[in-house]
Amino acid sequence: MADCLFCKIIERKIPADIVFEDQRVLAFTDISPQAPTHILVIPKRHIESLNAMGTEDDQLIGEVVRRAALIAKERGISEGGYRTVFNTNREAGQTVFHIHLHLLGGRPMHWPPG
Ligand code: AMP
Ligand code: ZN
Repeated sequence: MADCLFCKIIERKIPADIVFEDQRVLAFTDISPQAPTHILVIPKRHIESLNAMGTEDDQLIGEVVRRAALIAKERGISEGGYRTVFNTNREAGQTVFHIHLHLLGGRPMHWPPG
């Protein structure tokens, strides 16, 4: 997608601090971190939001979620705990319309999230 910020990161047209990459998934540090660990895990396939997911995406999004858990383990935050969030559309505060899973950790998380 020509106008998508995260597609541009995938294509290396915009720099990012990439922490994981394989054929289907990319993970990079959030530019405006809200916790000591704040990483975005994205599918390389452009999907606007969870609302646009099809059954063909089930495995791909499963890989995104599992990758977040593996990165959390690598960072030493899996035992203490971490937060994973998909924001969907306006009321959830979605600003980039390419599915991304926020991985947040390294500090206590509050509930409800606000
Ligand atoms: P959301 O509000 O859920 O759509 O999340 C979008 C996230 O993308 C925000 O946490 C931003 O800080 C982050 N973000 C925006 N631009 C960049 C960028 N160039 N590199 C890394 N993260 C970014
Ligand atoms: Zn995209």
